[in-house]
Amino acid sequence: MNMTLCYVCGWNFKETYSGGDICSCCGSEYDFSDCLEKEEILEKYCGNDKEKLHIIAPELDGVDDEEEVARDITWRFLRLAWVKKGCPFKWAKEEGIENWTIKDAKKQLDVIGYKYDSLVPLANKIISD
Ligand SMILES: [Zn+2]
Repeated sequence: MNMTLCYVCGWNFKETYSGGDICSCCGSEYDFSDCLEKEEILEKYCGNDKEKLHIIAPELDGVDDEEEVARDITWRFLRLAWVKKGCPFKWAKEEGIENWTIKDAKKQLDVIGYKYDSLVPLANKIISD
């Protein structure tokens, strides 16, 4: 994948980003927000409900609680949390974004291969702050 697109929401950074960079759209900070152990995901996004965790990330069955989770999975949780919040554009003003709508978010997700409509049922299961 093109390393200028946010793995979480698909926002185009327009330049290559790396650890410590924060997405203006979904607000994820690379190598920080996406750096999670299984037990942190279980608590933060699943309210310690192991069944929820299994539904969203069956790959984590049998993984130790203290193990750091692969980024493609942590990005999934960040993405679902963003969808659950209604896909807000965090720093729209700074990026000169006006009239950001869910339609724009859908297009952005399409670019990185995710269908908004299929994310919603899972997003509704998770807990987000
Ligand atoms: Zn993003």
